[in-house]
Amino acid sequence: MELHEAPTPRLKEAHDLLLRVDTLGVCGSDVHYFRQQEVGGTVVPYPHILGHELAATVLETGSEVKNFHPGQRVAVDPLVSCGKCDQCLAGRKHTCRHQKFLGYPGQLPGALVEYLVMPDACCSPVPDSLNDDQAAVVEPLSIGVYAAKLARLAPGARVGIVGSGPIGLCTLLAVRAGTQATVYMTDLVEERLAAARACGAAWTGNPQREDIVEAIHRLEPLGLDAVFECAGEQDALDQCVRLLKPGGELLVIGIPEVDRICFSSSLLRRNELRIINVRRQNECVEPAIELIASGRVNVGPLITHHFRLEDTARAFELVSSRTDGVLKAIIRISPEN
Ligand SMILES: [Zn+2]
Ligand SMILES: [Zn+2]
Repeated sequence: MELHEAPTPRLKEAHDLLLRVDTLGVCGSDVHYFRQQEVGGTVVPYPHILGHELAATVLETGSEVKNFHPGQRVAVDPLVSCGKCDQCLAGRKHTCRHQKFLGYPGQLPGALVEYLVMPDACCSPVPDSLNDDQAAVVEPLSIGVYAAKLARLAPGARVGIVGSGPIGLCTLLAVRAGTQATVYMTDLVEERLAAARACGAAWTGNPQREDIVEAIHRLEPLGLDAVFECAGEQDALDQCVRLLKPGGELLVIGIPEVDRICFSSSLLRRNELRIINVRRQNECVEPAIELIASGRVNVGPLITHHFRLEDTARAFELVSSRTDGVLKAIIRISPEN
């Protein structure tokens, strides 16, 4: 991990915004590229700029930009879609066939920079009631909001979330804000379970200390309506399918390090379980901003550490180690922060 000087980027398109990056959250996927140097068979080139969870301030606007002005603070959707393919036209820009994602190897350089040019369609104004840390957490929260939306939970639903890292906690916050569901959460790291309780989980358990499936079944003998897999581990997937009631829904959000995962076909079939895969988010950035701004969601327990740009390597080491109770490490990029 090295710091380099680079020229300030310039506006290219009429709908571009020149942004000053204020804060950036370190994501598990950034750390994955940092550690593995490989993603799904694609080698991460070196040098490569990581980062996609950012809060920024508009510095300059392209000639066709109408809804933004210099000085305005924004949250950024890191996905640039083509707007023309069948997926975009069907309202599924997150599966755009020509998408480019910030910091994704081979697509776009990341946001771990002082200045960045983005299309205005990727930016959403942030009210002054959100600070720059909260604005940087809008992106992971939008994934939780989208996953909760896909689950279509009934009020009072009984829900499990396996994995209490930042995405598991964002899913918990979104599920609770939408339905007041009773949520059971698990993780291997005790501090993460404490954060889950602080974010509204009804029950937490550590699979290293107890059989979490048995423990939850004692409380919910009929099984759970929906379970969100936010760990990206085979063991977690196995726990999820055992936790569900017949007709229940498994939402797969976690990204496993291996490409193949497996399920018990008899459990899936006998219980007629439905599996929904979640790819990032779609149109949930503004609802996520609104959830924080209205006070219906408190992302405070997620934000555990701050670093200066010069100390980015330490931030990555910490997130990678999962020690010191780290959930979201925020890098303060703009010196004004
Ligand atoms: Zn991320
Ligand atoms: Zn497209």
